[in-house]
Amino acid sequence: MDTVRSSQPRLANIVPYDPKYLPADEYLSANENPRNVPEALRQEISEEISAVALNRYPDPLGNELRDMIAQANGLTRDWVILGNGGDELLFNIALAWGGPGRTMLNVPPAFSVYEANAYLTGTDVVNVARTDTFDVDEDAVINRVSQGDIDYVILTSPNNPTGKVISEDFVERLLEATDALVMIDEAYSEFSRCTVLPLLKKHKNLVILHTFSKAYSLAGVRLGYIFAHPEVITEFIKVRQPYSVDAVSQAIACVVYRNRAVFEQEIDEIIAERDLLLERLRSLDGVEAFDSDANFVLVRLEGADEIWQKLYDKGVLVRDFSHAPMLENCLRVSIGTPEENRIFFDTLKEILQQR
Ligand SMILES: *Cc1c(COP(=O)(O)O)cnc(C)c1O
Repeated sequence: MDTVRSSQPRLANIVPYDPKYLPADEYLSANENPRNVPEALRQEISEEISAVALNRYPDPLGNELRDMIAQANGLTRDWVILGNGGDELLFNIALAWGGPGRTMLNVPPAFSVYEANAYLTGTDVVNVARTDTFDVDEDAVINRVSQGDIDYVILTSPNNPTGKVISEDFVERLLEATDALVMIDEAYSEFSRCTVLPLLKKHKNLVILHTFSKAYSLAGVRLGYIFAHPEVITEFIKVRQPYSVDAVSQAIACVVYRNRAVFEQEIDEIIAERDLLLERLRSLDGVEAFDSDANFVLVRLEGADEIWQKLYDKGVLVRDFSHAPMLENCLRVSIGTPEENRIFFDTLKEILQQR
């Protein structure tokens, strides 16, 4: 057959996710930790990997790592589930709480994956936009969920790509106002030094997403996890692929999680570098730099797409959001090493001076 019948009609409108990860000298586009896992840990990882029985299926639920994460947070394993990156768990919430006839509440500008997963699973999306300063319109969100038709909500704290945390008081108010499942995506919480985890035991409708991809230098490994009430975790287990987290990833993440204290100093450095970069950006005419509690900063400047290109021509890759809804003339810059941040800033300054 030299022809194939068409895929399901919804796919006709989908453009595959493109992280625009182009070759560059300075990678400041994907919010990764700029440093690889420290050498001593990589040594330990190599030893652990060589002991993995590659011919055997992995533990489907990764219980060794699951126990470690649960215990470190005063929980038992039934409050935790691992995923193939946080991304798998974002897909799984749409599979388990979305679907035809069901509705997600989204608070844009937000991580585009939320809406893409809703669309793929036939879930309706209700958007309650953030304000001009990218704060959550708290009353509008509460009013909207109070109508009773929302099945799940995803809120990002700190938000990607805008940077700020949401208040714990608001999260609690939201959890009281609805029985919808409320996911707080805390992919960047290590850089904000705060989490809504203390609310977990009181609210069965709370789910909290964390990942090894950002602070813990494992974007290449694909490991994320959620905290939620055991009844919620059971529903996530029903929709997951049984072996989504492979044995090698489990072994690597166990070493990193056991040694997570080693990363604290780097996290502190990234936080300090973020605050320094914000201050320096604010000294430039025509650059608006938004507050950030994450490992990136969002800037707004005239002609952002041209500036993106000029930065890229000089080897500096940042993320261009200038054509995304609500993010006109915005670029997102990940915090790199002090050297990379200096190169980014000097290059930007030079480009702006030449205009
Ligand atoms: C990076 C990120 C994630 C998770 O990424 P994974 O690499 O799949 O763990 C989740 N949410 C947001 C907002 C992110 O930026």
